[in-house]
Amino acid sequence: MQTSLADFVRDTPEGREAEAILRKCVHCGFCTATCPTYLLLGDENDGPRGRIYLVKQLLEGAAVTASTQAHLDRCLTCRACETTCPSGVRYGRLADIGRRLMEERVARPFWQRARRRVLAEVLPRRLLFAPLLALGRLAKPFLPRRLAESVPVSPPAAGAWPAPRHSRKMLALAGCVQGALSPDINAAAARVLDRLGISLAEAEGAACCGALRYHLNYQDAGLDDMRALIDAWWPHVEAGAEAIVMTASGCGVTVKEYGHFLRHDARYAEKAARISAMTRDLCELIDAEFDRLEPMLERKGGARLAFQAPCSLQHGQAIRGVTERVLARAGFELTPVPDSHLCCGSAGTYSILQPELSLTLRGNKLLALATGDPELIASANIGCLAHLQTGTQIPVKHWIVALEERLRR
Ligand code: SF4
Ligand code: SF4
Repeated sequence: MQTSLADFVRDTPEGREAEAILRKCVHCGFCTATCPTYLLLGDENDGPRGRIYLVKQLLEGAAVTASTQAHLDRCLTCRACETTCPSGVRYGRLADIGRRLMEERVARPFWQRARRRVLAEVLPRRLLFAPLLALGRLAKPFLPRRLAESVPVSPPAAGAWPAPRHSRKMLALAGCVQGALSPDINAAAARVLDRLGISLAEAEGAACCGALRYHLNYQDAGLDDMRALIDAWWPHVEAGAEAIVMTASGCGVTVKEYGHFLRHDARYAEKAARISAMTRDLCELIDAEFDRLEPMLERKGGARLAFQAPCSLQHGQAIRGVTERVLARAGFELTPVPDSHLCCGSAGTYSILQPELSLTLRGNKLLALATGDPELIASANIGCLAHLQTGTQIPVKHWIVALEERLRR
């Protein structure tokens, strides 16, 4: 794609990066076929190729409007288009650059700004989010049906966290919303890893990975969250932590890209690159250690399980088929999930900011997941888990929780 970037951006790091991405696009349109919003809305500007053109126009200095912004807002940042693209176009990065510049040029209505600000202030702060969530649960019977449905059920008990006793040590991220919504996930991961001779710890002061604020377009605040998390982890890294294990693929995809996000920060670039290099999704770790885990598993017969592969896992981190392999080896009978590449509509704060599209995608995903009549739905990201559970009676669990239930006591 030919480009002629405007003066305001041409010689900036973002401009150079965007130009390199744009030049890779050959307009073939293969990506539109796997874009959830294009499939629902049928508008070229609600698909990746159209959005790429919109960002190109913005970077070339053309006037942009609220309508241009709406097309970018409707993008889930699921990155299915990146998986499909034969030219290696890094759409997600281009969208980040475009959205930041768009935010500077198009003023949002007051209510939109207020809503995004509240989300950016509350969600990353566990001390604010947890009591508000508890309040929402108390008020649930009095809320309108649709709002009540969006309040997650009470969290399962976490159970005991094993005492640190092994020479192999790894870090887990307590995160922002996961600790309040599902404290059992990291605890289950810690117990499974303990059986494998690995002590898992959550670093004190480690909070949000930065994805929430970054993708709400408070990009500087998101970068600050990333720096704060590196600071919280760094003493453990220096003390010999072997890896950072991510139990939420939405956080994992961000932490794996810290090296890129902070590459121009003289103080943090090197540390960020090291943090990214030592970060692994939990499924990568369990898959690598599975031969040692297998003898500890009870063969309970093949419970039928549908696995929902989060976009942040299959598209963002390009990890495909690994969790499924682990679950199949653990004895689960994996049921078919048509169109498994399509987003469930959770997508961070998307379910709050774009409720209609999000609910349609959730309905489609739940239908696909129910195809093989599963007893259980498993996923690998807290956002997807909470979003899916609000629309089905089938239990939805993190896969590590389901796996732990198969460990011999
Ligand atoms: S990130 Fe997802 S929603 Fe956005 S353009 Fe790509 S495929 Fe479509
Ligand atoms: S598939 Fe890739 S090269 Fe083709 S239009 Fe989409 S982004 Fe451009």
